[in-house]
Amino acid sequence: MVELTNEYIEEVVKACRPFASRGKVIDHIPDLDQSHLTNLGVTIVTLDGETYSAGEDQDNFSFQSISKVILLLMALEDFGKDIVFQKVGMEPTDDLFNSISNLEEYGGRRPYNPMINSGAIATASLIKGTTVEERFDRILDFLRKITENDKITMSEEVYNAECKNGARNKALSYFMESTGVLSSQESDAALDLYNRVNSIEINSLALAKMGCFLSNHGRLIGGKKQIIQAENIRTVKAIMLTSGMYNESGTYAVEVGFPLKSGVSGGIVGSVPGRMGIGIIGPAINRKGNSCAGGEALRILSRDLELSLLHDR
Ligand code: GLU
Repeated sequence: MVELTNEYIEEVVKACRPFASRGKVIDHIPDLDQSHLTNLGVTIVTLDGETYSAGEDQDNFSFQSISKVILLLMALEDFGKDIVFQKVGMEPTDDLFNSISNLEEYGGRRPYNPMINSGAIATASLIKGTTVEERFDRILDFLRKITENDKITMSEEVYNAECKNGARNKALSYFMESTGVLSSQESDAALDLYNRVNSIEINSLALAKMGCFLSNHGRLIGGKKQIIQAENIRTVKAIMLTSGMYNESGTYAVEVGFPLKSGVSGGIVGSVPGRMGIGIIGPAINRKGNSCAGGEALRILSRDLELSLLHDR
């Protein structure tokens, strides 16, 4: 097994940067443009509190789909597993992340899982709070706590763009209202909350801390307090493993082998239970929505550090 050092992470970044040329940077998110094509930040935070990091690890980009992990964690805490999984399923799907057609089966069904857009809008309706602002503030406080970073905030510019370009998500929300997955009181607020959490700005350091919190079964490093129930953390990690990398999740389960969630800004959060959290941002993404350089970094890290949960020990 390779020794984990900052120099080693630097080598990984150097080896993976060229893979960015296989992808494209998404062009409708205001904080991203083609100048970020070869950006790559890779950070590991271990459960004993060490940080190993290299590349553009302080550059902030929007959370996008990685926010689906936080929405699910909080919905489980707020309402419990039974209610959450009455509204949204827990099965993987080969459909696109923003597919509407799968909601139509049998004349109307719940979303396949909380890691696709329809599923995340449904879980967003299960966050407690009297107003959208209050619900969002609870999420932001929670994220700041688990990343130990009070500066994390939402980009108004990204939020405005999410609302403006969000016709598909509006359609998903209203479709779910039409089939009774969401009530007419829930659909607008859930969509607005979904757009806000997508627009939170985050870097690879914060993502690694978030991953570490999951790996530490819902406690901060060195902390005894159970911030999220361990059972809910397990549920979220299981769904990340089966559905966290869009319709490439099976490939990542085979090639990397631990819970992951990606977003279209090129971010990925990874959790190796009992060992470490991994945060990556490499904005050039492939056609499935996953970071090209980031995906390669995960394959190398998993091989060199023997991270797969299915590894013979
Ligand atoms: N804001 C994007 C959407 O709602 C997120 C996509 C993603 O990261 O998968 O479609």
